[in-house]
Parts: sequence; structure tokens; C-alpha cells
Amino acid sequence: MSSDQSAVPADSTADDADTASESARATARKQLERAAAELDLDRNVVERLRHPAKVHEVTLPVERDDGSVDVFTGYRAQHDSVRGPYKGGLRYSPHVTKEECVGLSMWMTWKCALMDLPFGGAKGGIQVNPKALSDDEKERLTRRFAHELRTAIGPMQDIPAPDMGTDAQTMAWIMDAYSMENGETEPGVVTGKPKVIGGSPGRSAAPGRSVAIITREALRYYDTPLEGARIAVQGYGSVGGHAARLLDDWGATIVAISDVEGAIHDPTGLSVDEIPLHDEQPGAVTAHEGSSVSHLTNDDLLELDVDVLIPAAIGNVLTETNANAVQADLIVEGANGPTTSAADAIFRERGLPVIPDILANAGGVTVSYFEWLQDINRRSWSLERVNEELETEMVGTWNRVREEVAERDVSWRTGAYVVALSRVAEAHSHRGLWP
Ligand code: GLU
Repeated sequence: MSSDQSAVPADSTADDADTASESARATARKQLERAAAELDLDRNVVERLRHPAKVHEVTLPVERDDGSVDVFTGYRAQHDSVRGPYKGGLRYSPHVTKEECVGLSMWMTWKCALMDLPFGGAKGGIQVNPKALSDDEKERLTRRFAHELRTAIGPMQDIPAPDMGTDAQTMAWIMDAYSMENGETEPGVVTGKPKVIGGSPGRSAAPGRSVAIITREALRYYDTPLEGARIAVQGYGSVGGHAARLLDDWGATIVAISDVEGAIHDPTGLSVDEIPLHDEQPGAVTAHEGSSVSHLTNDDLLELDVDVLIPAAIGNVLTETNANAVQADLIVEGANGPTTSAADAIFRERGLPVIPDILANAGGVTVSYFEWLQDINRRSWSLERVNEELETEMVGTWNRVREEVAERDVSWRTGAYVVALSRVAEAHSHRGLWP
């Protein structure tokens, strides 16, 4: 096994991702302060929201297929539950840290409040390279994680979902482990499950679908026709891949896409329907050929002269170093936290609009909410109903944020934060401090 394929991170005490120039927690706290100042929010509430309610840290010994045992670290950060059970994804990545989970859990609190879902925010994960594990090893690791978190999660307590490096199968193992330990089948403990055990139609495409809907609305707002709009998408997985395909269906020209191995560019437009998503066939992006297709790096893609740039891969890709080189007219954040606060300040100064992650990719958790409703009511919805309700929720929230942006003359991020934060703060002030 080559060293970059090792499942155990080289430095498991590392404080942050090597792609990061600031931790997700630091970015999230700065964004909170900015919006709190705009709202003139009670400092006592802000102080509470700067910290997660709980962070579970667990040790996960796993027997490898060769009989040896490796020990991994797992986290579940539960930020705030004033509006309902904690909700958010679980990621498997060598870059998972406690600080990252805390920052991402804060974003989930705002995302759920922005969409007016009856959930709070959580995020967790395991510091592991999932590509270096066999399916059996992944199953043992996941079941052990579910066992360690059994008292922290539950359909009315904390509901995990897929995120980077996890998928419907991961959720199925968690649901099974939780259900077996509790002695009853409990589909509502996780969302993003396979449909046959209570998953929702449309859940896996939902984050990409919401990115496409918000891109369409933002282009309309800036008087740019969607038909023929030139769009570059970084990341070709569940978010970027589905967003690219839908925008292509709606008439946009997808001029560049990328996966972890590199990017491709075709100024005449890529037929994204013909390029398998990264999860379906890893390597298909860079293997794609065509007479006007050229190869680029992931960094080059970010600097293409396009109408819309959609960073939909990982966090902290737009930084102080490349923010001035970005030539797009509009950025729509598909990934969670792709823009550092320094880059965000540069974009604000340049007047380059950035539609924030908590709005653009909120389709994932919104359909998770639909899935949870189906689970606790023991009913299933059609794909048409899911997509229709998602469309209504996304457009409604877009309009709500648009009003705030117009009224306060603030960035899209601050506008979205103002809507979310005022709901969370109001709930805190009604419920008060206990005991
Ligand atoms: N991981 C997704 C996100 O970051 C979805 C979370 C969920 O559905 O709970 O929004």
C-alpha cells in the first residue's frame, strides 16, 4: 500500500486540513460576528452561538482485512438545537478535525434556520482515507462509530446524513447498527439512506439541484440569460455533477468541470450528460476527450473567464492568494466553506457577488427533512413531489434573502446570515437559558 493510500493519517494530531489557510471554525466565527454586528444582536446570544453545545470524540479500533488493528478518531460536533434536533452530515476524510466539525456544525445551524427547517446544526466524521479501506473495513468502522454515538444520535436527537466520503450505504449501516441496538427499526435516525429502507427519492441529487436553482435565480437577478451562460464547476460528485447536468439541461454552457485528478475545459461546452459522475466512474472527467477539450489544473479552473464559477468540491479553495485572479462574474458556493474570510473580503471589495453555501447547497438538508418526515410518518413521497417542494422552498428562501440584501445593502452571505441568525436568536430569547 503506497503512503498516500494509508488509511491512518500521517499526523493524526494535525489541527487543520492542508488545503486550509484558516479552520472552518475560524471562518464560521468571523461570519457569525459580521452578521451579529449587522443585526446588533445580544452579545449573550452571540457568545453562546460561538461555541458548540457538545463535541463527541471517540476512538474507533477496527480490524483490517489482514488481521491487524488500526485505531481511528471520530467526532460529532453538536452546535445548537434551539429549533429542533441536531442535523448534519458525517464525512470520512484524512482532513477531518475537531475544529472542522465545529465550523461545519455552525454552518448547519444557519443552513437549517435559513431554510426554516425544525432542526439545529451538527457535523461529524472520521479522520480516515475511505479510499484506502475495503468495503468490509468501512462497514466495521461505520458500525463501531454508530455504536459509540448510539446515545448521542436518534430521530429526535441528532440525525446524521452523507457528506464527503460517505454515501447511502454508510447511512444504511448506521441505521442498522442503531436499530439493532435499540431493538426496533428506526429509519429516521439518519437521512440519505437507500430508498428501500426509508430513503427519499431525489435526496442524492438534491444538493446539486438546489445549486442549479439558486444559480438560475441569481443569473435572473443579474439580468444574465441562463441560456448560453458559461459556467465552470469545480467538483463532479453529488453536488457539482448534478448541478452541472441540470444547468446544462436548462440551456447553460458548462465550459469546465473537474474531479480530484484534474479539470477539463471546452469553450464550446461539455456534454456533461455523457460524462459519468466521479462516484459512478472515478477518473472519467480527465479521461474525457474531444477536439476542443483541453486539460487544466483545479486551480486554473477557478480563474477561468466565465459567467458563473461554482466551487463544489472542498473547502478553502478561494483564498487571499487567488481571489484577485478570479474572473467569473458570479460565484455560487456548492461546497461548504469554499471561500476563506480573506477571499470573501476581497470579493466584497471587488463587487463580485458570492451566493453562500448555506443557501446554495441547502437542497441536501431540505430533502433530508422531507426524508425524515416520510420516515416518522411511515409514508413515501414521489420524486415529483420532492422536486416540486424543493423548488418552492429554494425559491421562497432566495426571495427572502433577496429582500434582506436589498433592504440592508449587504452581501448575499450577510443577507442569508441575517435571516438565519435572527430566527436562531429569537428562538433563544423565547426559550431562555436553562437552568
Ligand atoms: N451534508 C449535507 C450538508 O452539508 C447534508 C446534511 C443533511 O442532510 O443533514 O448540507
